[in-house]
Amino acid sequence: MKILVLNAGSSSLKYQLIDTDNGTVIAKGLCERIGLDNPKLVYGAAGKDKIEKILDMKDHTAAIQYVLDILSDKEVGVVSSMSEIDAVGHRIVHGGEKFNKSVLITEEVLKDIEEISDLAPLHNPANLMGVRACQAIMPATPMVAVFDTAFHQTMPPKAFLYGLPYEAYEKLMVRRYGFHGTSHYYVSERASELLGENGKDAKIITCHLGNGSSITAVAGGKSVDTSMGLTPLEGVVMGTRSGDMDPAIVTYLMEKLDLDIKGINEYLNKKSGVAGVSGVSSDFRDLSKAAAECNERAKIALDMFAYRVKKYVGAYAAAMGGVDAIVFTAGVGENDDAVRAAVLEGLEYMGVEADFELNANCPRGKEVEISKSSSKVKVFVIPTDEEMVIARQTAELV
Ligand code: AMP
Repeated sequence: MKILVLNAGSSSLKYQLIDTDNGTVIAKGLCERIGLDNPKLVYGAAGKDKIEKILDMKDHTAAIQYVLDILSDKEVGVVSSMSEIDAVGHRIVHGGEKFNKSVLITEEVLKDIEEISDLAPLHNPANLMGVRACQAIMPATPMVAVFDTAFHQTMPPKAFLYGLPYEAYEKLMVRRYGFHGTSHYYVSERASELLGENGKDAKIITCHLGNGSSITAVAGGKSVDTSMGLTPLEGVVMGTRSGDMDPAIVTYLMEKLDLDIKGINEYLNKKSGVAGVSGVSSDFRDLSKAAAECNERAKIALDMFAYRVKKYVGAYAAAMGGVDAIVFTAGVGENDDAVRAAVLEGLEYMGVEADFELNANCPRGKEVEISKSSSKVKVFVIPTDEEMVIARQTAELV
């Protein structure tokens, strides 16, 4: 089946056309600055030159139309007509408690997603815009919603509840939901396959470390705890998000900096994290460069990041009563060997024997085991593939 995978943000749209019969990406790209000035379409297809075009995209409908046009273009396209696309898989960030798995999109489903939008005001409305735009252009094509939160719906109450009056959960849906579920699902599945015979029951800690980062404890293929919470702000310190902190800091900062709700949200989501601590950048490549040039705050930011990840690894090993494998994935987890080394150093007491030389020379884009053969706990670098999961689940449902 040919599945178009869409990930719509407020002013962006990432897309991939995937052939699920042989697991190949036929074409992929993105639309940037939708509704702003100089909107750009980027398109790449196997065996063809990459194309970048400034196009007039006033909204997501226009962007999706351009994507479909280029996919079916006579010269650079990869399908003869839109009707060759069997279905569309949409990434939806928040599925609340309503969605514990992917679903075929109906009007009722869209209404439910809209109702959950209060929990993800930055993401769900943008995702929905993508679905609506697509429906307007391809009304006869089946569509599937794949939720970032769904994989974590197996967490038990002791892991998902906060220590708040129970009514906050019952009436206001305040609980841990967790995110990056599609990625944690994919890499934990791969790790359990790589572990072989006993992989199915394994206890695995997956570290999705990117611009946003989350750590998940997976036991027997199920998420039992995860570091992100009601929103993606909780957990390890991230590119621009604060991660865990004393909740009293919120009101203290609002008072001292005269911030309103929008202001504090922006402060914690956009101005904090390793970017805020270092004053350099949210990008780990910039941070490593600055640290190598003796920028103290960049060094501290990198130390903080690895330290917080390590604390979660320890916590989840304790929570699961042991660990069989640790997985690193996403932009930082797959590419930054120094971060991985800093997380793994000193974990010998829990049976982790990392091969630091192999880690430092780990080939990019490949699944690699970076623990020694004698290591009780296996350590893997596994490139994530959220789009492939979305495509497969979409194909299954239609
Ligand atoms: P993601 O959110 O998974 O797309 O990850 C994006 C982040 O990965 C960037 O902001 C960088 O901090 C980080 N990253 C990407 N490539 C590298 C690299 N080669 N070395 C270190 N960090 C990287």
